[in-house]
Amino acid sequence: MNEFHPNLSTPVRGDFASIQERLNNHVVPSYGRFPLALSHGSGSYVWDVSGKRYLDLGGGIAVTSLGHSNPEITDALIEQSRKLIHISNLYYTDLQGQLAERITGLIAPGKVFFCNSGAEANEGLYKAVRKFGHEQGRFEIITAENSFHGRTLGGISATGQDKVKKGFEPMVPGFKHVPYNDLEAMRAAISPATAAILIEGIQGETGITPATPAYLLGLRKLCDEQNLLLLIDGVQCGHFRTGRFQSFQRILEGVEGAESFLPDGISMAKSLGGGFPMGAFWFRSPHGDLLSAGTHGTTFGGNPLGCRVALQILDVIQRDHLAQNARELGAWIKDQLTATATKFPTIIRTVRGFGMMIGLELQPNIPAFNHDNKPAAIQFINRLHDQGVLTIPSGTHIVRLLPALNLNKSEAEEGLKIIEALVAALV
Ligand SMILES: *Cc1c(COP(=O)(O)O)cnc(C)c1O
Repeated sequence: MNEFHPNLSTPVRGDFASIQERLNNHVVPSYGRFPLALSHGSGSYVWDVSGKRYLDLGGGIAVTSLGHSNPEITDALIEQSRKLIHISNLYYTDLQGQLAERITGLIAPGKVFFCNSGAEANEGLYKAVRKFGHEQGRFEIITAENSFHGRTLGGISATGQDKVKKGFEPMVPGFKHVPYNDLEAMRAAISPATAAILIEGIQGETGITPATPAYLLGLRKLCDEQNLLLLIDGVQCGHFRTGRFQSFQRILEGVEGAESFLPDGISMAKSLGGGFPMGAFWFRSPHGDLLSAGTHGTTFGGNPLGCRVALQILDVIQRDHLAQNARELGAWIKDQLTATATKFPTIIRTVRGFGMMIGLELQPNIPAFNHDNKPAAIQFINRLHDQGVLTIPSGTHIVRLLPALNLNKSEAEEGLKIIEALVAALV
């Protein structure tokens, strides 16, 4: 694996309070932010404006797949920006076709549409479903409780969590939610208007919950029987994070009867551009032709700059065997955390996930957290920040690790040591 050399440009220094004040005065306050202002990064490390270094085990929420300031991404951005950044989809560009070919090669024959975010990728799925069911008057999509599909109006309508919908009603019609990993609930929810089922391969925002093999196979059978599209939101769990390109490929490894399993459509984003904003969806043949000329589009989608970066990321993942690294180092991290959980059962309840997508579930009543009304996950993460480690909250009690796919063992050891010391201190 390539070693990172720290970026030697002058570090950006600043005063946290003034940065915070300016942002609070001028930016819509839709985010709850941690009290940290970051200035630059290199590999799996980032620095704040006071010069303090952090090990980044959150990867910008599963985005920075090759770490920060990766020199090969930087070179790809520079080289391509000297040629052509954007020209619109009124014309052909070869990089878009190359990237689509690579993505279909990693899944199965079909077609890809490029956009700019995960929510937008899912919007494309919803629109394709509407086309698919239109002649029969079918339009309904059943999704899972505790799912997350993005923050657009369609996204919050699809998301099975009341908190994202609150105050934004009425929702876009045609979405229904049923418990995850419950095939019978799904079967019971199907109506004559149903056209598709959409689930995450691994629920990410609500605690790293993987679909079971039986659920995936059962949904496929159900969709075949009822002529429904089976759609997987792979925005967070995709792009080799689990050790395979898509999480269902990993979940179904070695499972009897799963060899021919395929969903009908998959949405992608997050790690796809490694930090360059990019989304995509794939539909298997013949559904890849549902959205015909003039029926869907986006100005920026699939621009040469983004496609060049995404191709570079795929090349590096393949050359450096990063899927294997995600699988093996991820499994080792999970084993170590599981050992910590066994040692400190009053603090950690469970450890779940695959590869570089790991959730650490905290116990509900940790005495050390009683003095403060912030959720346990936030208090845990704030303490990790003090110790120089970044992680991501998921719900109120789960701490997620979504590091770069090229995290190395000594970085993992450093992070685990700090996490274990914090857990021990909470007892
Ligand atoms: C992050 C996420 C989205 C939304 O992606 P954005 O790029 O934030 O729009 C959708 N689905 C899942 C599973 C996600 O994790």
